[in-house]
Amino acid sequence: MIDRFTTVRERMVQEQLRPRGICDPDVLRAMSEVPRHLFVDDALQAKAYGDHPLPIASDQTISQPLIVAAMTQTLQLKGHERVLEIGTGSGYQAAVLSRLCAKVYTVERINTLLAGARKVFDKLHYYNILSRLDDGTMGWREHAPFDAIIVTAGSPEIPEPLIDQLADPGCMVIPVGDRRVQELHYLTKNDGEVAVQRLESVRFVSLIGEHGWKND
Ligand code: SAH
Repeated sequence: MIDRFTTVRERMVQEQLRPRGICDPDVLRAMSEVPRHLFVDDALQAKAYGDHPLPIASDQTISQPLIVAAMTQTLQLKGHERVLEIGTGSGYQAAVLSRLCAKVYTVERINTLLAGARKVFDKLHYYNILSRLDDGTMGWREHAPFDAIIVTAGSPEIPEPLIDQLADPGCMVIPVGDRRVQELHYLTKNDGEVAVQRLESVRFVSLIGEHGWKND
């Protein structure tokens, strides 16, 4: 998509992503395609491609481009997958995923955020994203199992329903830790066996629900 931010977006890929370990050509292509500025407030559009997270409505945040790209790359999507995302927020991460897999199922607990994200998905004709208002720590049972799961809010532990709803083989990336700082966890399921690997430290807003933090 060509727009007034095309050059800025390409610079984001060349300067923030490539030199810092993002090498999957499909991920780089998706990051240079998806118009990140449409997922933030009009007043913040000029800052949308900066090397930092940004505030969105309801005290939530859209992650730094590098974190979105790194979490996406970790899932090693080939194109045929059905992916579950917990924490739609602005919709940006779901949009990036939708360029790289068959279908994205994304769950958000705050209605105003979900409504905003849906508007942008429609505007961009990203029709392979299905979204739902709910407590995502319960997963999305009707559409399980998922080939990959990505949680974009910090959790005290890995929610059991998400492990159950992960396909075999399948993988999940999720920030686990305390309220302030978490470690990205990479979970894989293979022949019935679940393994967890710890990746880098991150800061996410809290995952709130039955199998997350109990309150805001
Ligand atoms: N992926 C988003 C980042 C959003 S920040 C983006 O690209 O913009 C994390 C989001 O998780 C917030 O919108 C928050 O409301 C949501 N969230 C927190 N707990 C949740 C839960 N139990 N179920 C669904 N969404 C949740």
